[in-house]
Order: sequence, then structure tokens, then C-alpha cells
Amino acid sequence: MRPLVAHIDLAAITHNYALARQCAPGRQALAVVKADAYGHGLEPVVAALSDADGFAVACLEEAERVRRVASQARLLLLEGCFAVAEYQRAAELGVDVVLHSAEQAEGLLASVLPAPLRVWLKLDSGMHRLGFDEAALRHWHARLQAASQVSELNLISHFACADERGNSLTELQLERFLDVLDLPFAQRSLANSAAVLMIPAAHMDWLRPGIMLYGASPFAELSAGELGLRPAMSLRAEVIALREVQAGETVGYGGSWQATHDARIATVSCGYADGYPRHAPSGTPVWLQGQRVPLAGRVSMDMLCVDVGVLPSVQLGSEVELWGQRLPVDEVARAAGTLGYELLTRVTARVPRRY
Ligand SMILES: *Cc1c(COP(=O)(O)O)cnc(C)c1O
Repeated sequence: MRPLVAHIDLAAITHNYALARQCAPGRQALAVVKADAYGHGLEPVVAALSDADGFAVACLEEAERVRRVASQARLLLLEGCFAVAEYQRAAELGVDVVLHSAEQAEGLLASVLPAPLRVWLKLDSGMHRLGFDEAALRHWHARLQAASQVSELNLISHFACADERGNSLTELQLERFLDVLDLPFAQRSLANSAAVLMIPAAHMDWLRPGIMLYGASPFAELSAGELGLRPAMSLRAEVIALREVQAGETVGYGGSWQATHDARIATVSCGYADGYPRHAPSGTPVWLQGQRVPLAGRVSMDMLCVDVGVLPSVQLGSEVELWGQRLPVDEVARAAGTLGYELLTRVTARVPRRY
């Protein structure tokens, strides 16, 4: 077997979920498990979070998968239905739906459903991606309040910049959310991970922690460890080849890395087809034998190379961690100019998850 495994620590995920709830005593939390639980595997994560107050996903296909593991749990469709026909299935599955547009709302009102739905009206409080402005939200609240398709009318919105502490847009978004609370909503939800951790005024009734559950930080300047989060995924490979390279020789495609001194190069069984970022530059840290060693040259499809000059004891079969318990995913993401979110969700299907 190819030595590359994503080890998933489910206890870390339940720890991180408990931490989210501790941030907001008395509130409930929808564990966000979209995108295959941010790459960790939807079914095992939902099963591990069997005591969670509920779950949130991006589409009905994901909701179907959650339902097979958690038949009763509260379950929210974050983008609502993509076609009118989906309301039928949403009602059968007993999922809550977001309504973010007039088209979605009209589609719901035109549906004949086996059971009424819990509806979350989405306020566009300033992100300008999805949702109603205040006037439209008030209009649809009035139209939906007595609709036979609706069993509960709730309010939801999403922050654009909560990961940047002190960003003035966050303040403005919170104000716009508070401005519509004169309307009678059964439940309210505003906080993603960053707001769960840093903005108590945004906690409302239902938290929506995503990235923090998986032990990565939503903040550039605060590490997951400092926040008390435990990393859930450790992506581990092995050294499959070793060689000495003389000063002046190059390594990898394009010969983009050149040895400035005689170097020892280890080839590692992980590449961009596994989800390791191809754009990670030379120098990106890789964990090997208790140390960070630098990536050397371009990442290949199935392999990458590191300069292990500093570690004479590296052998064939030595364990390598691309990110995880010993090397925070956020550190690798920063070096590669991306986010922990992207690295975690992009680990491809050919990498076995071991729980
Ligand atoms: C993905 C998502 C979340 C979770 O965000 P994190 O930053 O991962 O905590 C919350 N709410 C909505 C609407 C989302 O799409």
C-alpha cells in the first residue's frame, strides 16, 4: 500500500465542539459538516458528534448522508434548495432550509409539502453573497409568517470579515442583524467559528462552528493551539527514496530548486493529486523526525522532495507529517499562501482516512 494516510482524531473533533459550546453557555451549536466534514469524512464525524445539537450542510445530497447517521438531529441546509422540486425531499428528510432569494421563497410558497419546513430567512448584512436586504427580508417575513409550508421562521446571516479582529464591517453586520430583531423570529443564528471564539454579542441562539471543529484557526494571528483547539487531521506519508545531490544540481520539475551546497534529498509519498498544494514554494515546512525540514522544488503529482541536510538519520520509511498534530495545518497554509480550510477540504479521495 502507498504510505499516505489521513489520520482523523475524532476525539479532537468532539473536544473542539465542546469548546465551541463552552464559548457560549446556554446556546446551541450546529456542527458544520459540509464538504465531507471539511475533508474529514462526513459519516464518521457526524457519528462522533452524536450528542451535537444539530448539523449544517451545503446541499441536499449532504443532508441525505447526515440523515443516514443522525436520523433525528436538527439539520440545516445553508444555501437552501437549488430547485423547487427539492423542497419535497427537504420536508421528507425534516431538514431546515435557508431562504436567501425571492425565487427560493416563491418556490416554497408554490410547493405542496408532506410537512411544513423550518425556514431560516437569510439577511444580507454586508457580505453581499446571499440574502435579502432589510426591506426584502421584512416583506418575506410578512408573507411567510402564516404560510402553510412554514412551521418556524428564523433569522440567519453570515460574517465576511469576522476572522480579522476589529474589522469595522463586522460591527456593521452585527448592527444590521440587530436592526431586524423587532420582527418575531423563533431562532437566530449569526456566528461562524471566528465569531464563536471572539464575538459574544453575535452568539444568538445557534452557533455555526465549522473550521474550529477540525482544529484549525480562523485567525491569521492566533494559532489553533492558543485557542485550545486540537488538530483533527494528521496527513502522514513516508520517505520513499533518498539521495545525495551535489551543489549546483537541481531538484524536481523545472529544476526550480538548486542545491547551494551538497544536500541530502528525501522523496516523500505525497503530491498534489493527494491535495498537497502544488503552489507551495520551496521552504514550506514539512515535519520529519521531530523537525521542520524545507520543501525542495516543485510538488509533483504523487511525490514531493525535502532537503534533509540537517537530519543525517533519515532513512527509507521514515515517517513524514505534511500537517497535523506536529505541524499545524495553518502553518503550511500560510507558507503556501492559502488557508487551513482549503488544505483540509482538498485532500483527495485516493488518500485513505483512518479513524
Ligand atoms: C461554512 C459556513 C459556516 C462555518 O464557517 P467556519 O468559518 O468554518 O466556522 C458557517 N455559516 C455558513 C453560512 C457557512 O457557509
